[in-house]
Amino acid sequence: MPQQQSHNMGAGGDCICPKCDHRGAHRAGVPCQDNRCPHCGAKLLREGSYHDQLLQQKRQR
Ligand SMILES: [Zn+2]
Repeated sequence: MPQQQSHNMGAGGDCICPKCDHRGAHRAGVPCQDNRCPHCGAKLLREGSYHDQLLQQKRQR
């Protein structure tokens, strides 16, 4: 059976909106920052990225 494997295992993840938690599938070759949230228009962040981790830390306080 056909089996496709990502070239970048572990680098996957969705693009998320830092404002409203909207999730969108990350498209290869398109930085999340180039995408806008369809709900609030904020720049999206790559899930698990440095900025995303900062955001998570802020929310825990
Ligand atoms: Zn949003």
